Amino acid sequence: MIMSDLQGQIWMDGTFCDWKDAKIHILTHTLHYGTGVFEGVRAYETESGPAIFRLKDHTDRLFNSANLVGMQIPFEKNIIMQAQCEAVSQNNLKNAYIRPLCFYGSEGMGLRADNLKVHCAIAAWDWGPYLGAEQIINGIRVKVSPFPKRNPEAMIYKAKATGNYINSMLALKDALSHGYDEALILGTDNSVNEGSGENFFLVKDNKLVTPKLVTVLDGITRKTIIQLAKDLDIETLERNISVDEVYECDEAFFTGTAAEVTPIIEVDDNKINNGLPGPLTKQLQANYFNLIRGKHDKYNEWLTRVEKK
Ligand code: PMP
Repeated sequence: MIMSDLQGQIWMDGTFCDWKDAKIHILTHTLHYGTGVFEGVRAYETESGPAIFRLKDHTDRLFNSANLVGMQIPFEKNIIMQAQCEAVSQNNLKNAYIRPLCFYGSEGMGLRADNLKVHCAIAAWDWGPYLGAEQIINGIRVKVSPFPKRNPEAMIYKAKATGNYINSMLALKDALSHGYDEALILGTDNSVNEGSGENFFLVKDNKLVTPKLVTVLDGITRKTIIQLAKDLDIETLERNISVDEVYECDEAFFTGTAAEVTPIIEVDDNKINNGLPGPLTKQLQANYFNLIRGKHDKYNEWLTRVEKK
């Protein structure tokens, strides 16, 4: 089954259309120049129906990304939030991955086009663990990406912009072609940045360490994990991390809306925690899963219940 053959409804510029009719023109500007901004959001089944995790934070980041690339989203934030809820209910989903995308249309061509309209689409579908059902339990093997490295001056990596993902795709392709599950991307100073679509954490001496937000995305799962660690009295240090430190750490894991909390058991053939997911990683993963499924009262305000249609 290919994505465009799924059944359902997609929200496009204010109304729902049939999944198969959610089409755009070949001269869509963003398709040519990578100038779109997007989000990856998840809804999970809870005792009181599906609930979207940190909907407001994701929507705020979408609007921030648009600001960073100079794009004006032609809808109010509350409309985009409501449309994400409706994309879940309209498609009768209990668990959902939600993909809002804002892009320039086919009103003009060339870098200098000045008559472009911003269009918004929101699709939602059921998507299991991004890095694999087995991998989220048993962990993944990661390759430090030799190329390309991130230059903080060259791009706005804090924006979740479509063009940024060329860097991610090159790194991921390199890792996959060498038989690994995911890439670990470095900065121009050779410090660890992030995965192709995940933030990175290591555990050393019962503390979490994660790269500062310079050339990495301000991940919403990253923020959540830092808070869950705090609840366990575990401190998180945000600082530069060398590759050597990664090779010698006690535990490591990736976080992301799609990847959730995925243990890393090997980096460049160096086993982490004897090749097994670490105890703190497993604890944080379990607490994260409880939270998103509405079993953690303290954070219920992060869950937006989706009304049945
Ligand atoms: N870094 C990159 C490059 C990503 O694409 C993602 C996924 N959005 C993340 C980190 C993790 O961010 P979040 O936890 O908000 O999904």
